[in-house]
Amino acid sequence: EDSELDPCSSLECFRGKIEQETYIDSYDPSVLRRVQYLLYEVKWSNSRKLTQRCCHSTRTEHAEIYFLEDVFHRQRYDPSDHCSLTWYMSWSPCGECCKAIRDFLKEQPNVNLVIYVARIYCHEEENNRQGLRSLVNIGVTIRIMDLPVYSYCWRTFVCDEDKDEDYWPRHFAPWIMLYSLELQSILQVSRTSGRGHLHEEMIQSHMQNWTFVTIYLLLAGLTQHCSRNWR
Ligand SMILES: [Zn+2]
Repeated sequence: EDSELDPCSSLECFRGKIEQETYIDSYDPSVLRRVQYLLYEVKWSNSRKLTQRCCHSTRTEHAEIYFLEDVFHRQRYDPSDHCSLTWYMSWSPCGECCKAIRDFLKEQPNVNLVIYVARIYCHEEENNRQGLRSLVNIGVTIRIMDLPVYSYCWRTFVCDEDKDEDYWPRHFAPWIMLYSLELQSILQVSRTSGRGHLHEEMIQSHMQNWTFVTIYLLLAGLTQHCSRNWR
């Protein structure tokens, strides 16, 4: 429980920026925070302006819903204008939010959405897995945040006060690999659906991936532990 993280009634971060500690903590793929952060970029084709801000979930509302129902509607809207949206999320959208995103994109065919996520939300629940697949099926791009993306978000969305020049959390690498494999296996199902034997094989390779990554994480942990003691 980290209820101390959402003291504000508003879902917008302070001055549209995220605090350093909040960014480091909330986007750490090995830590399971309850509050979900959404760093967003909005670019309209007929305008030079690039909006880059931050919002988060509260107890009652997920960050994507806030974006779709509030942030987007505050934008200057011209149906002939093409809009590129990029989201950098600490948690991937849940099944319910995926439905809302789908409905939104159906109503807004001029909007293109790319989503980067630090973690996949309850990735064993079929509802959430199906939700992610359904987004990819209508043209949404979903990726796991890698180190260059962590660094980009640091430079773009984090408060400037006493900020280190760069943020390159190398120790996230095994987690990035783990979630990338998991996302791959979630999305593969739609490509192979209807072919039962392939599905079986995929579950098996999925299990092997998890075993492999678990061993990798254990080793990485041990190595880190040892090198710390040796120094
Ligand atoms: Zn949600």
